[in-house]
Amino acid sequence: MFVVLLGPPGAGKGTQAERIAKATGLLHVSTGDMFREHVRNETELGQLAKSYMDKGELVPDEVTISMLNERISRDDASEGVMFDGFPRNVPQAKALDDALAERAKKIDRALLISARDEELVSRLSGRWICRQCGRLFHERFDPPAEAGKCDACGGELYQRDDDKADVVRTRLEKQKPAPELIDHYRQAGVLHEVDGERSIDEVTTALLEALR
Ligand code: ADP
Ligand code: ADP
Ligand code: ZN
Repeated sequence: MFVVLLGPPGAGKGTQAERIAKATGLLHVSTGDMFREHVRNETELGQLAKSYMDKGELVPDEVTISMLNERISRDDASEGVMFDGFPRNVPQAKALDDALAERAKKIDRALLISARDEELVSRLSGRWICRQCGRLFHERFDPPAEAGKCDACGGELYQRDDDKADVVRTRLEKQKPAPELIDHYRQAGVLHEVDGERSIDEVTTALLEALR
């Protein structure tokens, strides 16, 4: 099964993708995580991506699509993937359709997680991430047992530079799923919308229900 998770920044895509991957065995592929890995390793791609990420803008499609294509050509992606943060626009969605069609596969579900701006802003401003394993936390909504320390692996928690207020505003303006992107999946008959303004557990239940 090939699934895309759509939603504005802070909707809960990463949080839910991790849980769904665990429950279903799907491979979790996050383009945001891949870019951050490149930034950490100081690759050429990382330097390029950082210049866009720092401003809250999308990394150019050409670069993003080729990175994604390389990732899904590996063996571990052949049976199923949960895409988190990709596609962000129609050209990316079409590129993904084409890449899957070459392997006689298709997107089986598009899960849209929705939430209002005020909620997104408070989620992003309190988001903490494990430097070691990538687990997501929220200082109020999903706090770690011990402040600054990951429950899962004991790693150090940090806040993303692009979760600062001014960049968040740009991301909310430029990175909400466009109506055209949502229509792309509605027309394919695979769209399911889930209310993201519920507890993390309730959203997980609704998403798993949509996957059955
Ligand atoms: P996205 O990947 O869509 O940007 P995240 O999964 O990183 O979103 O979630 C953003 C922040 O909101 C994180 O700090 C996460 O712990 C928190 N969060 C996620 N889902 C919920 C929820 N249903 N209720 C409250 N906080 C949530
Ligand atoms: P969020 O948790 O806010 O949804 P991500 O972690 O998915 O953000 O992405 C972080 C940044 O990486 C984005 O602001 C953007 O610059 C870049 N990025 C991630 N996915 C894509 C994509 N599919 N196309 C272009 N840029 C992307
Ligand atoms: Zn960790």
